[in-house]
Amino acid sequence: MALAARGARVDDDVMELNPSQKRTLQFLGGTGTVTGSKFLVSVGDSRVLVDCGLYQGVRELRERNWAALPFDPRSLDAVVVTHAHIDHCGFLPKLIAAGFDGPVYSTPTTAELAGIVLPDCGHLNEEEAEYANRKGFSRHDPALPLYTEEDAWAALQHFKTLSHGVTMEIAPDVDLRLSRSGHILGSASVQLRLGAGGPLIGFSGDLGRTGHPLLVPPDPAPGADYLLVESTYGDRRHDQAGAADALATTIATTIDRGGNVLIPAFAVDRTEVLLHHLSELHRSNRLPAGVPIYVDSPMALSALTVYREAIARGDADIRADVAGGGDPFDLPNLTEVRDVEGSKALNHPSRPSIVISAAGMASGGRVVHHLAHYLPEPRNSIVLAGYQAVGTRGRQLADGATELKMMGQYVRVRASVVDLPTLSVHADSAELLDWVGSNDREPECVYVVHGEPHASESLAGEIRRSFDWTAVVPRFGERVRLDARCSTR
Ligand SMILES: [Zn+2]
Repeated sequence: MALAARGARVDDDVMELNPSQKRTLQFLGGTGTVTGSKFLVSVGDSRVLVDCGLYQGVRELRERNWAALPFDPRSLDAVVVTHAHIDHCGFLPKLIAAGFDGPVYSTPTTAELAGIVLPDCGHLNEEEAEYANRKGFSRHDPALPLYTEEDAWAALQHFKTLSHGVTMEIAPDVDLRLSRSGHILGSASVQLRLGAGGPLIGFSGDLGRTGHPLLVPPDPAPGADYLLVESTYGDRRHDQAGAADALATTIATTIDRGGNVLIPAFAVDRTEVLLHHLSELHRSNRLPAGVPIYVDSPMALSALTVYREAIARGDADIRADVAGGGDPFDLPNLTEVRDVEGSKALNHPSRPSIVISAAGMASGGRVVHHLAHYLPEPRNSIVLAGYQAVGTRGRQLADGATELKMMGQYVRVRASVVDLPTLSVHADSAELLDWVGSNDREPECVYVVHGEPHASESLAGEIRRSFDWTAVVPRFGERVRLDARCSTR
């Protein structure tokens, strides 16, 4: 039996790597899921982790945030972060608390935005643990935060910034270069050159839409020998024009019947893009007259300031027409809600309103409290404006949940739920395929990551059909060689 079982395992990830097989890549997150991105590159004694994301969604994934790492954090030379979303950088404070003491490379804007989202995440961890302990609904006694706000501030001290297009040696035999990925402000694709004449590894990071209303489109793929591409929407096409119309219609009908529109939104970029859409609707007289709009998220408001500053200085990430135009977020009835009392008041607005609140997948944050109040009322609408990962409340709503569990209690879903994933800031399958195809040579392998299984497999299939290239959906924990063909020739 044992022999048969062993004989059945022919996968390369169980091979014993001898010291001459020096270049490897291990998939430690973003496999079979859109969260927890972590890719470990080893070259001789050098070790670099690309992205250090937090797992979100189903419990089985979230528990990985608490599991021991399969490598010694002290052995890492450096971490590279593609962008400031929590599923790409949110594990950094934990990694550093676990002993990593080296630099974290990112673009300057990613470092600035990380300075907003990481302390917020730490604070939220503490708040949720405290709330669960007070109300007694945690499975753990006592509930502990994964890390604290203080851990997050400590992690921020490790950031070193690198502008797009500049090459820097970040470890022996590892040169780093960042290019634009067009997903959020500061977001980057990552290129690692492993030694002089060695292979070039390209990581897409999260890829934006070519039609992002504020940001310039992604740079082409870097001519890599090995390419990792995200696949959040690997099995879907977006219809941007239809989404703006659907948003306008939902707002008009909801406000008309005396209801409120609640939009859970990622604080960084999603909120800005939504405000931009609302501003356009306002300009074309498609918003109900005088409807109050609230942004209820201190983190989103801080990110909005970073966007406004980038637009004002004509940051290279910003589209030329936006940088040269007026305020793209101009809305006369916009109220910024920072304090908790103001947020609580939005549970019972005095007149029909539009409320944008974090977190985007309703996995935590102020929006959970609003949902608890808005869902039972049939006149209200909940607009889902981005990707909803499996296991999150947002996904349950998108899938038609009739009851939703929040803070240990079930709430009836009577409000309309309108799923508008086409408002996403992620590339769709055609755009992902275009980006892969922009690699000016056939890579040894394209690894399709950062997607739920169907999305990743679907994109891998498209890559094989379109280019006849090797396309693989790696498994969690799988390790591959980065010089396979060269060394077996
Ligand atoms: Zn992202």
